[in-house]
Amino acid sequence: MDYRIRTWPDKILKQKMKEVDFFDERLKGYIEIMYKRMYEEEGVGLAANQIGIPYQIIVIDTTKRENEEEKEEGIKLALINPNIVEKSGEVQSTEGCLSFPGIQITIPRAEKIKVLAQDIEGKEIELETDGFLAVVLQHEIDHINGIPFINYLSPVKRRLILEKYMKAKKELTRSK
Ligand SMILES: [Zn+2]
Repeated sequence: MDYRIRTWPDKILKQKMKEVDFFDERLKGYIEIMYKRMYEEEGVGLAANQIGIPYQIIVIDTTKRENEEEKEEGIKLALINPNIVEKSGEVQSTEGCLSFPGIQITIPRAEKIKVLAQDIEGKEIELETDGFLAVVLQHEIDHINGIPFINYLSPVKRRLILEKYMKAKKELTRSK
């Protein structure tokens, strides 16, 4: 596998990923390559299917985003089989995505979430969070469920954004 970033409309971005039931060297290898690719692409989060790994794994590193004003500390973590079990509040979030290069959109997200997941050893983790981390987690957990962030746009806006994106993508491919 080449682990290149899969970009829309690659079908792996539209599929729900398989649950991980192996907590071994193979899983560790996947997580390592996911961190590596995320840092190479300068992302703050990455879902496994974005590099072609068909499992429910996400990695996040918000430590470079530490913001004194917001008093929010960064965190680095890998979550296996994560699920959002509670949501509350709403914020408007402006997001980009490695699988939609060149696109930035503003969409509603829950303000606070509770996530159940497993760690690299298979131990259960419960995480309650808000702010930037909550938004990144929602974006990445959506990915492993086959939900791209454009799904939160109205049909009209989505069509316009996708037309712009596909046009830019075509030009990019042609100039290569
Ligand atoms: Zn994304």
